[in-house]
Amino acid sequence: MYWVYENWRARGHKAVIHLDECGFCNNGRGVTTGTRPDNGRWKGPFPSPETARHVAERTGGNVKICRCLDQVMQRRLSNMELNYRG
Ligand SMILES: [Zn+2]
Repeated sequence: MYWVYENWRARGHKAVIHLDECGFCNNGRGVTTGTRPDNGRWKGPFPSPETARHVAERTGGNVKICRCLDQVMQRRLSNMELNYRG
């Protein structure tokens, strides 16, 4: 499953797409130390990366793709962004 972490405190407003096995994501619970809970929120789970991508886009934040997604998927989602804006 795919998750979106929306963060509006770190460096500008951003939305990062993750896989649920990612260490940063931890099935939507996120990391337990280091960040304050009001810094952001998890959205998900989503069954497809495309759905996660659209949700990330709708937050209005700067969309990023975590390295937990493989390079093929990173490229696919990046191309979606180009198509969406083109
Ligand atoms: Zn990740």
